[in-house]
Amino acid sequence: AKENGKNNFQFYTAAMNAVVHDRMEIENGLRHALAKGELVLHYQPQVDIASGKMIAVEALVRWAHPEKGLIPPDKFIPVAEESGLIVPIGEWVLRTACRQNKAWQNMGLPHIRMAVNLSARQFRQPHLLTVVAKAMEDAGLDPNSDSLELEVTESVVMKDLEGTISTLNKLHAMGVRLSIDDFGTGYSSLSYLKRFPINTLKIDQSFVRDITTDADDAAIASTIVTLGHSLKLRIIAEGVETAQQLALLREMKCDEMQGYYFSKPLEAAELEKLLREERRL
Ligand code: C2E
Ligand code: CA
Ligand code: CA
Ligand code: CA
Repeated sequence: AKENGKNNFQFYTAAMNAVVHDRMEIENGLRHALAKGELVLHYQPQVDIASGKMIAVEALVRWAHPEKGLIPPDKFIPVAEESGLIVPIGEWVLRTACRQNKAWQNMGLPHIRMAVNLSARQFRQPHLLTVVAKAMEDAGLDPNSDSLELEVTESVVMKDLEGTISTLNKLHAMGVRLSIDDFGTGYSSLSYLKRFPINTLKIDQSFVRDITTDADDAAIASTIVTLGHSLKLRIIAEGVETAQQLALLREMKCDEMQGYYFSKPLEAAELEKLLREERRL
């Protein structure tokens, strides 16, 4: 038994080493990815359900790795968050997304909002306000033009509530729209939700996935819509893949949708084409 235990231990450390090694490889590569211009943004449409019009896009980062190909954010954002690299990466995302939206505006394309994800660490950065203001200013985006929205997850905003309110109020005063991402997955304090100067709740895609077959998920989604509307918020459902899901969400009076049913996240040039065509739902 002892020998067996030892073997298990060796196996375990080997597996652990592989995990640690992978993580270090990602962290080291990521350190240079920004400077080497290996990070790219894709843009996924957000559509107004009633009019069928594209009204916003969400910027989603990818790592165009020279050997490994396109690496999805789930593979490197957590490492970036732990190592602190998320701060320069997040600032790059913000600057790039603002500049892209201004470029589309300059082309005379229909006006859209640019939604950018803020990580936990970014949201707590003392320089956040300066960074956001500078990104908009450098890009030449008019602060009161509904051009920028920041997405912060429910779990992030529900920590340090007084600090959250103060930060959200300052962003709101700067003319930035605010949305709560992955809503329904955390534990929201409803009394605080009322005090947040937010515009939008994003129903997490885990509730949308089985919305047509799982009565509980449908009840949760419908409750979020009702709750949000009573707080004068707009509700967007993410991860919408089918006409059936959309029909149900429309029935629930959900305001906006984002998902493969309309479009996957696209490269800037492809997104520009959709805008030019004024593609509708
Ligand atoms: P998220 O903010 O919840 O973004 C939505 C994710 O759902 C995206 O995955 C998107 O591609 C995916 N998605 C959209 N529509 C559908 C659909 O119809 N079906 C399914 N199955 N998936 C759909 P992605 O791009 O892989 O991003 C994953 C997560 O990585 C994001 O989740 C976000 O938490 C994080 N992330 C991405 N870009 C950034 C960034 O610039 N900064 C930060 N801090 N996090 C980011
Ligand atoms: Ca998001
Ligand atoms: Ca989300
Ligand atoms: Ca998510």
